[in-house]
Amino acid sequence: MNYTNSPIQKITFNNQEYFVKRDDLLNSDFSGNKARKFYYYLINDFPKIKKVVTFGSAQSNAMYSLSVLCKIKGLKFDYYVDHIASFLKENPVGNYKFALDFGMNIIEGKIPDSFDEETLFISEGGAVVEASFGIKVLADEIKSWAEQNSIKNLKIFLPSGTGTTALYLQKYLPFEVLTCACVGDEDYLKKQFEELEKDNFPTIVKKEKKYHFGKLYKEFYDIHKELLKQTNIEFDLLYDSLAWLCFEKYVSTQKNKDYTFLYIHQGGLLGNISMLERYKHKFDK
Ligand SMILES: *Cc1c(COP(=O)(O)O)cnc(C)c1O
Repeated sequence: MNYTNSPIQKITFNNQEYFVKRDDLLNSDFSGNKARKFYYYLINDFPKIKKVVTFGSAQSNAMYSLSVLCKIKGLKFDYYVDHIASFLKENPVGNYKFALDFGMNIIEGKIPDSFDEETLFISEGGAVVEASFGIKVLADEIKSWAEQNSIKNLKIFLPSGTGTTALYLQKYLPFEVLTCACVGDEDYLKKQFEELEKDNFPTIVKKEKKYHFGKLYKEFYDIHKELLKQTNIEFDLLYDSLAWLCFEKYVSTQKNKDYTFLYIHQGGLLGNISMLERYKHKFDK
């Protein structure tokens, strides 16, 4: 099974050249940045552990990826949510449906205060030090690619939720890592960085306006469709649409500076199934 070494592809979008690290192609079940963040748990053995516990939303990419990991490792998986919408219970789709197929035990309610020694607890979204292990592997792949192609003036862009991936990429790379805050504002993201590291943070590119995570925006749908049309790559609607809006804006301020731009595609495409249904319903009339 291949869980590392994703390809890097050259694309042209709106007459600008970019490279894209295709972590969405890592593996059909276990891909994107969650495969990187949970790589430590995949390749190490935890003889005492029988069960993994975490919490978050009922459509989370981390939830799905952990359900796959637990299946591969033969572990039980308890996932705590505040609430599951009744339409989702009645019509399971996307991450929720596939995580259930992989054996997730979903629990509505409060997460326990403590766990026995056979249980491994992982923070929401995999914002844990252990994530640095797999993200270093990603950083090393980028470094060798840059060396092989004699690229020195590289700038890397990727969207942040918890910011864990961007933070550890910056830690292990000699290039500038840029990101934007998709969940919460810039201050929230900086606080997230400070939870895990003292300094050497990625550059946070400001957003044009305030966006609420999970809400539908016409410009998100438009750039998603335009990216698909021009590059033949499907990007995620929750994070990538906002990131490309920010990234393009940023790149337009860096003209004539001879930078090479690399975007990290972090997967998340199962989540697009339900998002596309919502977008079509709202905007394709
Ligand atoms: C989880 C996720 C992110 C956010 O990753 P963080 O490490 O929490 O910043 C971005 N894009 C996609 C597609 C994701 O699934």
